[in-house]
Amino acid sequence: MKTGSPESDSVVRDRLMGLDVAECERARVRRDRRYDGRFFSGVRTTRIYCRPVCPVKPALGRNVSFFPTAAAAEVAGFRPCLRCRPETAPFSPAWLGSRTTVDRAMRLIRNGALDREGVERLAERLGIGTRHLDRLFQRHVGASPLQVARTMRVQRAKRLLDETSLPMAEVAERAGFASLRRFNAVFAEVYGRPPSQVRGRG
Ligand SMILES: [Zn+2]
Repeated sequence: MKTGSPESDSVVRDRLMGLDVAECERARVRRDRRYDGRFFSGVRTTRIYCRPVCPVKPALGRNVSFFPTAAAAEVAGFRPCLRCRPETAPFSPAWLGSRTTVDRAMRLIRNGALDREGVERLAERLGIGTRHLDRLFQRHVGASPLQVARTMRVQRAKRLLDETSLPMAEVAERAGFASLRRFNAVFAEVYGRPPSQVRGRG
């Protein structure tokens, strides 16, 4: 999170990438289902991030940071919670304004656009330049398009691990990874453990 003038500091404090921080905090402590998918909360003491509906006892507010997307939480150094499983949150983020460029971009990435082609092609499809696309993402999503694609790939893999008994190589391929080796490396970075250790927990 960049901070500059005192003015932008207060904007950062009250409205974080489109999120109203006080509203998020109320939703978090009440475990308000209506907010599921609209933001994620990271606990700075454990470095774990959660959905608002997490069954674990809510952490103290002073230790919590809010993020508009799972990718933003991961970029900030948080790991997905194994209890509330952020990868299963509904796709209903706070930036949602049905026809906005960011929304279209997120949907394309979710459908694998950046698993098959690069950011240039994605920007082209959206009718904007890559720098503009990057700026939009930093502002509204809290992560670059490539970081979002990476999070979504890991999320797909995690769902496959929990819901199927497919061999690892097939999980990697279906999730959109270029290789099993790449899948193992990225998954371990995000979860802090290899995919084989996560399988079957749920
Ligand atoms: Zn959780």
